[in-house]
Amino acid sequence: MDRRAASVGIDAEGRAVHEAMLYDKLADGEVRCRVCPNLCHIKPGKAGTCRARVNRDGVLVAVVYGRVCSVAADPIEKKPLFHFFPGTTVLSLGTLGCNFACRGCQNWQISQADAVTGVNDLRELPVGNLPVLAEHNGCLGVAWTYNEPTIWLEYVLDGAQVAHEHGLYTVMVTNGYITAEALDVIAPHIDAYRVDVKGFSERLYRDLCRVKDFHAVLAAAERAKSVHGCHVEIVTNVIPTKNDDDETLRAIATWVVEKLGAKTPWHVTRFIPYLELSHLPATPIKTLERAVDIGRQAGLEFVYVGNVPGHSGENTVCPSCHRLVVRRTGYEVEDVALRDGLCDMCGEDLNMRRRMKQPGVNGDNAARGLGR
Ligand SMILES: [Zn+2]
Repeated sequence: MDRRAASVGIDAEGRAVHEAMLYDKLADGEVRCRVCPNLCHIKPGKAGTCRARVNRDGVLVAVVYGRVCSVAADPIEKKPLFHFFPGTTVLSLGTLGCNFACRGCQNWQISQADAVTGVNDLRELPVGNLPVLAEHNGCLGVAWTYNEPTIWLEYVLDGAQVAHEHGLYTVMVTNGYITAEALDVIAPHIDAYRVDVKGFSERLYRDLCRVKDFHAVLAAAERAKSVHGCHVEIVTNVIPTKNDDDETLRAIATWVVEKLGAKTPWHVTRFIPYLELSHLPATPIKTLERAVDIGRQAGLEFVYVGNVPGHSGENTVCPSCHRLVVRRTGYEVEDVALRDGLCDMCGEDLNMRRRMKQPGVNGDNAARGLGR
């Protein structure tokens, strides 16, 4: 089946208009979007919560399809992904809008911008150009990042298929707020699914992100791994007074161990004050080190300190023989004792993935980890 998003018309500037996937037409021209658990009911002329999916005369349109506001060749470690094609560069794309409204978003200039009014200032980047752009910039893959990729699902889907056709790996850096239906459309084409887990209660998600169903985030991460074989890494941005208590950190770590496995990397990253949370301090280093201890006590084998360049908590230490296997300094990566994804000294499996998924094969069978 050709799942590529259909072009349904031409706008006033002569550009293609892309009809969205996964929505229902209701009475009186209203539509219901099924891409994320917000399940927005959208009246004609209005946009969903993400401000990137707009009802035009009863047709839901993906207004940011193929229109990017950020394009860069980034180290894969910046996503952060530490156990997926380490040391490689990834073509990174973002646009306007988000299905969350986080009070402390670092990328608020784009995530909370209005795509409807801002779209004409965005650069057009057809999916057919991605392989050449990747090659010219020395990239081995394509990442949808900076803002929430779920809100331009159609572009990610088309782009990921083109990327795979050209031997490029694919990455989503996501808040995980996606319906199972939409995940089942996109995840077969995604190699690495990097999910933020911001807390472990509805109250916290309502407070921080203004969404109600945090279980959907957990379910998406679990499904991406168990059903679709994606390589999954989890990030928790540790925010003083919000999610830095032992109970919350332990709950997240325990969930990762139980549902995603002890070898799943968990990044506990330093919060930098922004927006409505600018009154809070940056996360103390000691708090991050406590989070690492909590993660290890819960049974996680790879817990990393993030946003603190030069901290020893960026390194990979073999969970079996406790020797240094990958040294990282900021985005500099050096193999110390990594061979075929295993510890060179004791043979421990380090869950380092260096190959893309095989079509129709789930993660446990997909080729795992070759060294650099
Ligand atoms: Zn070892």
